[in-house]
Amino acid sequence: MTSWVLAQQNDDLFGGVSDFFDSTTWHLIRNLTIFFVFVFWLATVFWVYKDARRRIADPWLVGVATVLGAVPPFLGPIVYLFFRPPEYLEDVRERELEIKAMEERLAARDLRCPVCRAEVEPGFLICPVCTTKLKQSCINCRAPLEALWQICPYCETPVDAPTAVRRADTWEEQSRAAGASAARRRKRPSP
Ligand SMILES: [Zn+2]
Ligand SMILES: [Zn+2]
Repeated sequence: MTSWVLAQQNDDLFGGVSDFFDSTTWHLIRNLTIFFVFVFWLATVFWVYKDARRRIADPWLVGVATVLGAVPPFLGPIVYLFFRPPEYLEDVRERELEIKAMEERLAARDLRCPVCRAEVEPGFLICPVCTTKLKQSCINCRAPLEALWQICPYCETPVDAPTAVRRADTWEEQSRAAGASAARRRKRPSP
């Protein structure tokens, strides 16, 4: 009698459980779960693709990384995290530009006489080796002036244009003469 009642109760319980699994609520929960897992998987694949594009230049390797992000699901992105390049391409490019700019600054500091290629300082008015006039000096404070300057930046004296032209002529003549003689000296040491 007691066992019959228990069996009946068990039947009711299992019947209830199987009813639940057959019910539309269960179907809805299961489908929603599958849908969210699928969306999450798509999101991880997309994340791997986006991250790989910022770090890898070769489109084929980006494709390989994306496939790895998709298969095996969820484990692929973790494997990708271990092997991805440590830097963004943008940062690498920026650093290369900085290095290039630094090299250019260093090269600019390494000034040479246009005629005899001797090293000269930015403040030199004349090449000490071949006596080529390199820069004109301010008529007021004697500071060396760059060719394009219209005014002395040290004492505000305007650069005298006719003088500048005349001096440029002189410089050209001198450098031509000096260059010619230097070339003669270099090319034909013993005539
Ligand atoms: Zn020189
Ligand atoms: Zn000056």
